[in-house]
Amino acid sequence: MNMHAPRPIPHYHEIAQECALFETAHSQGLPLLLKGPTGCGKTRFVEHMAARLDRPLYTVACHDDLSAADLIGRYLLKGGDTHWVDGPLTRAVREGGICYLDEVVEARKDVTVVLHPLTDNRRTLMIDRTGEELVAPPGFMLVASYNPGYQNVLKRLKPSTRQRFLSASFDFPDPQSECAIVAKESGLDVSKVQPLVRLAGHIRALSGMDLEEGVSTRLLIYTASLIHRGMPIEPALEAAIIEPLTDEEDIKQALRDLIATIY
Ligand code: ADP
Repeated sequence: MNMHAPRPIPHYHEIAQECALFETAHSQGLPLLLKGPTGCGKTRFVEHMAARLDRPLYTVACHDDLSAADLIGRYLLKGGDTHWVDGPLTRAVREGGICYLDEVVEARKDVTVVLHPLTDNRRTLMIDRTGEELVAPPGFMLVASYNPGYQNVLKRLKPSTRQRFLSASFDFPDPQSECAIVAKESGLDVSKVQPLVRLAGHIRALSGMDLEEGVSTRLLIYTASLIHRGMPIEPALEAAIIEPLTDEEDIKQALRDLIATIY
């Protein structure tokens, strides 16, 4: 008899049959790269799929100091003894879990060297420090994400790395899906979410011109949550949309003008 309570599956509103792609990639042992702007649902998607497939999930937010040792593990000193501690990638491989490397282009170059033998048919992880060579069991899957909008020439995923992954592009959901997502996540009534999503459409049309990036679904959920908890619309928009998007006074004013055409 299974005494474990069933693991809750985080809510995810599917946009374009990405769940079937993930499932197939997982069953075939293929790695998956998710491309798209921040706050559009990539992390939630991976959390949802890991729970659905009942696999442990190890998420690593990559940064420019993240090295292969941070992923693989290291010897730690404890009470005069050194002992080996697995990093999140090693744990995912041992347990047949899913390892999600968020913003993988940020990581140091030595990380790529580790990923290559894991993402081709060898599916092996070399742990140089212990001399171990782990072959990933069938449940293991590597998922990585990156935001093409942030890319610069120095931080680009090399074709030799990119071409080891199946890839899927994520973007902000269509308005109807986004209304459903924001309403569900914030608790705010759909009728009050609709103008927010319309505003997001206008703001996203400005991105690239005055704004580095359009407003994310995440920020819309923040705004809707503030309104749902009783904050008037104007300060909610100021705190959850205008201020997070820009530091420039003239752009803030342009956003307020845009808001005035909707509210
Ligand atoms: P990313 O990883 O792309 O930066 P997240 O997955 O953290 O973005 O998404 C931000 C938030 O937006 C999530 O916490 C979730 O509340 C919501 N969200 C975005 N897209 C979806 C979706 N398709 N279904 C359910 N929630 C979503």
